[in-house]
Amino acid sequence: MMHTEDRPPSRHLDGNAAAGPLAELFTVDLSVAIMTCAHCGHSAPLATCTAYADAPALVLRCPGCTGVILRYSSDRGTIRLDLTGARLLAAPLPAEQQP
Ligand SMILES: [Zn+2]
Repeated sequence: MMHTEDRPPSRHLDGNAAAGPLAELFTVDLSVAIMTCAHCGHSAPLATCTAYADAPALVLRCPGCTGVILRYSSDRGTIRLDLTGARLLAAPLPAEQQP
């Protein structure tokens, strides 16, 4: 049986860790965006997703099924965004842009 102190430290953060890097691509506030998982249909705020920021790409996983929702990297002058695991991303327009 493995003791708690023998476990490796957790590498993941919450989805707020993705809001800053993704601001390079999106101009809306993604910390309040709702992500819908393409794997299980679970909808949740981006901030509640599990973020792995130390992988070759930033990876967000679904809080419902742990499936990969999003991969993002910014390297050598190119931004790459893989949303294969996201059925929908919904974010409110800033107040000054609303009709
Ligand atoms: Zn899911």
